[in-house]
Amino acid sequence: MKLSDGLERARRAYPVLKRHAADVDRSDRFASESVSAVRDEGLMGLLVPAEFGGLGGDLDDLVLIAQCLAGGCLSTAMIWAMHCQQVDTLVRFGSPALCDRLLPRIASGSLYIASVTSERGKGGHLLTANAPLGEDPGCLDIERDAPVVTGGLHADGYLITMRAGRSAKDNEVSLVYAGRDQVEVRPEGDWNALGMRGTSSGALRIAGRVPSDQVVGEPGKFPVVAVESYIPCGHLAWAACWLGAARAALSEFLTVLHSPQRPTTLQSSSDLVAERIARVRTALELVSAYLARTTEEVMERRRLDKSMDDPAVQIHLNVLKVAASELTLQAISQLVGLGGLSLGYLKDSPVPLERYLRDLQSAPLNYGNDRLLVATGLLSRTDRSVRLI
Ligand SMILES: Cc1cc2nc3c(=O)[nH]c(=O)nc-3n(C[C@H](O)[C@H](O)[C@H](O)COP(=O)(O)OP(=O)(O)OC[C@H]3O[C@@H](n4cnc5c(N)ncnc54)[C@H](O)[C@@H]3O)c2cc1C
Repeated sequence: MKLSDGLERARRAYPVLKRHAADVDRSDRFASESVSAVRDEGLMGLLVPAEFGGLGGDLDDLVLIAQCLAGGCLSTAMIWAMHCQQVDTLVRFGSPALCDRLLPRIASGSLYIASVTSERGKGGHLLTANAPLGEDPGCLDIERDAPVVTGGLHADGYLITMRAGRSAKDNEVSLVYAGRDQVEVRPEGDWNALGMRGTSSGALRIAGRVPSDQVVGEPGKFPVVAVESYIPCGHLAWAACWLGAARAALSEFLTVLHSPQRPTTLQSSSDLVAERIARVRTALELVSAYLARTTEEVMERRRLDKSMDDPAVQIHLNVLKVAASELTLQAISQLVGLGGLSLGYLKDSPVPLERYLRDLQSAPLNYGNDRLLVATGLLSRTDRSVRLI
C-alpha cells in the first residue's frame, strides 16, 4: 500500500468525524457514525497483511492516519488506534490458526477488537493480572472484571490480559482473544467521564470459555508481546492521536484569529499573541519530530528483526508517550488562555477548545504517566551511555 492511500481513505472519513464530534461528546454516546465511516474506508484492516485481504499498512501509515482522524474526532481516533494496537499484536503473535480465523474478518471491517488490560485492584499496571485463566483440557475459562474498556459494548472481540493459571504468579500473564459470541459481556457502569466521551469506555464483566489456541503469544509471557508490539504500537498511535487533535485546534484557532469571528480584544498583530502562538507551535513541532523519529526507530528495528527489548528504545517509547500527552495538553491549555472567555472557554466557541481540553486531560492518565516515568528512571540506570534518540 502506498503511504498516501491510507491517508486518502482517512481524509474521506474525516468530514463524518468532524460533523459528529460535538454531538457525540454532548450526548455521551459511542461515536457510531464515525467508526462506521472508518470501517467503510477499510481502515480497520490497515495493519492486516494483504494476503489476508487487509491494506498491509505499516506504523508510518498508522501515525499519519491517526493524526488525520484525531483532527476530526479524538474519541474515534483513539477507538481506531486501540483497535490497530490489538491487530498489530495478533499479526505478530497470533497462532497461524487464529490469524486465519480472525485477520480476514478484521480486514473486511466486521471484527472490531477492544483492549482489556486494566483491572480493579491492580489499577493500570500493564504487566500484571489478578484474575486467573481456568484451564480444562483444550479450553480456557475467563472471568474478568474490566473497569475501563474503550468501545467495550460495541466491540466484536477482546484481547484480555489474564493471570496464566490458578497457580501462576501475578506477573505470569497471558493475553487471550475472546470473540463477543464466546463470552457473556455485562455492563457494570456507565462511562461518565470528563472527556473522551465518544469512546464509551465503561466498565464490563466478561465471562466465558474459549479454545486454548486463543492465547496470543506464549502462555504466561505477555511481557514479550507487550515489549515487541503492544507498547510500541500503542505509544506511537496514541501520541499521533493527541498530536492530531492539538494540531487541529491550533489550525482552527489561527483561522479564527485572522477572520471577522475574532474577539475584538484579541489583536492578531500583537507581539504577545505572536509569542504565545509560537509557544504552542514549538510544543507541537517537538512532539511531531519526536514521534517521527521514534516511528523510524521502531520500524527500523522491525525491519532488521531486532527486539525492542533494549533500555534506550524503551525509554524513547516512554518519553514519547509522556511528552506527547503533556505537551499537547499544555498547548491546548495555552490556547484556552490566549483565546480568553469567548474563544477559549465557552462551549459554543467557534473553536471547540474546551472539548479538546477535556479530551486531552485523558492523555496523561491513559496509561498513567507516573508509571512510565518511574519505569524510565529505572531503565536509565542501565543506559549509562545515555543513548538519545
Ligand atoms: C480515555 C481512556 C480510555 C481507556 N481505555 C482503556 C481500555 O480500552 N482498556 C483498558 O484496559 N484500560 C483503558 N484505560 C485505562 C488506562 O489504561 C489506565 O489503566 C487507567 O487510566 C489508569 O488508571 P489510574 O489513573 O487510576 O492510574 P493507575 O495507573 O491505576 O494508578 C493509580 C494511582 O497510582 C499512582 N501511581 C501509579 N504508579 C505509581 C508509582 N510507581 N508510584 C507512586 N504512585 C503511582 C498514579 O499516579 C495514580 O494516582 C483507559 C483510560 C482512559 C483515560
